[in-house]
Amino acid sequence: PSTQYELLRRRLFNNVQEFWYFVSSEIIKLKGTTNDISPQLLSSLNNILNLGVQHKRSLLYDLEKLEYADGYSTWREKESNDLSNLVQSRFNYLQNPTDCKKAKKLICNLNKGCGYGCQLHHVVYCFMVAYGTQRTLILKSKGWRYHKAGWEEIFKPISDSCTSTEGETPVNWPGYGNVQVITLPIIDSISPRPPFLPLAIPEDLAPRLTRLHGDPFVWWVGQILKYLLRPQDKTATLIQNAITNLGFKRPIVGVHVRRTDKVGTEAAFHGIEEYMSAVDEYYNQLELKKKVDKRRIYLATDDPKVISDAKNKYPQYEILGDPTISKTAAVSSRYSDTSLNGIILDIHMLSMTDYLVCTFSSQVCRIAYEIMQNYYPDAAAKFRSLDDVYYYGGQTSNNKVAVASHEPLKSGEIQMKPGDLIGIAGNHWNGYSKGRNLRTNQMGLYPSFKVKSKIEVVKFPSYSEMYN
Ligand code: GDP
Repeated sequence: PSTQYELLRRRLFNNVQEFWYFVSSEIIKLKGTTNDISPQLLSSLNNILNLGVQHKRSLLYDLEKLEYADGYSTWREKESNDLSNLVQSRFNYLQNPTDCKKAKKLICNLNKGCGYGCQLHHVVYCFMVAYGTQRTLILKSKGWRYHKAGWEEIFKPISDSCTSTEGETPVNWPGYGNVQVITLPIIDSISPRPPFLPLAIPEDLAPRLTRLHGDPFVWWVGQILKYLLRPQDKTATLIQNAITNLGFKRPIVGVHVRRTDKVGTEAAFHGIEEYMSAVDEYYNQLELKKKVDKRRIYLATDDPKVISDAKNKYPQYEILGDPTISKTAAVSSRYSDTSLNGIILDIHMLSMTDYLVCTFSSQVCRIAYEIMQNYYPDAAAKFRSLDDVYYYGGQTSNNKVAVASHEPLKSGEIQMKPGDLIGIAGNHWNGYSKGRNLRTNQMGLYPSFKVKSKIEVVKFPSYSEMYN
């Protein structure tokens, strides 16, 4: 298929959803604004909501069928495998230099003072810089807050042949000249900033990725996580046993409810009803395609009360999830081996589901979403975030490009001309997003459908010498 065709198909899919976010929110707002709304008007508005959502589902269903009817499914599968094999072999090459003593190295310290998801993102960032500077990444993990003995007891070492810092005395980033060993700081304080940082993707892969995937950067992170998170036998057994004991079955939606220390500091509270109405809509949509015997979710949370609450309120649902795991997530015992097992399992289960409902403000859910990309040619649209759009902590920018002009209709909206760059702050999931027009420096709301993503393409090494 042409890139144009694939981009249009995905754009249609997203904008059918955006269209319905807009229409339904406006109608719900209308219903709420007048107290003395006439029964006739109320009934008409309810009819629009009722038939409108069916109309939306029908459109999405047809678009999904198009994806199979167009005859490109085999190509998508193969292209996805080929691209993954290509970058995985480059990662192997980079991480296994012929002479470890002399190899150029980049040292990354796992123990960033934050949670597991945040630490994984830290290592992924280190890996991006290692790949970009063509240096073997050395991960220092002794004394890891989640497992004192270090990373290598949980996951395979990130190299088979080169895991020590041996060589010249390390110097701090950015180093100089031909210096052998460089220590990398965390992304929040790296200076100068190399071009390889999020949301950049490698130029030599960009044309293929843009054609294949709805969010090439998320694919890129997914590939790095695929390399990094190869489980040691014990971890693989832990995961296998959990899958069996849980009775993991499809269809299944992954729900992540992040509470405790996050609420009120970095994210707002969302009731279980909000998550479940998104889950319900997923199943209403799915039922157009096939009969669903049982609506099922995998529920991960750091608050054990959430699981019992959900089971009480949604008896018609099969709810998989282990309250003993959420107990290990308590802030007081978070940095421990039991807690590590729990979060590994929860993230793995979430990533294996058919669709994710969560808050992208949490790194736990973003990691699950990134790993999920490894199980489909393109899983970019398989989520519903109740708050943020996808982002990467420390990212350089997240820009959209206006594809249509916009004149403000209400106060708070910004003007746009085609081609304007818009730095997105968030999607309000009601038809509008908020952002700054980088041409006018105006900040405000704009209709989400009037922009498209700007993919940040950067020259990385192409690893062509590995075939010599
Ligand atoms: P964030 O704070 O939600 O952005 O994500 P982090 O991963 O950086 O830190 C949160 C930490 O809380 C996790 O790493 C876990 O230790 C714990 N946690 C949060 N949510 C869950 C969950 O659903 N299950 C488990 N087992 N632990 C969780």
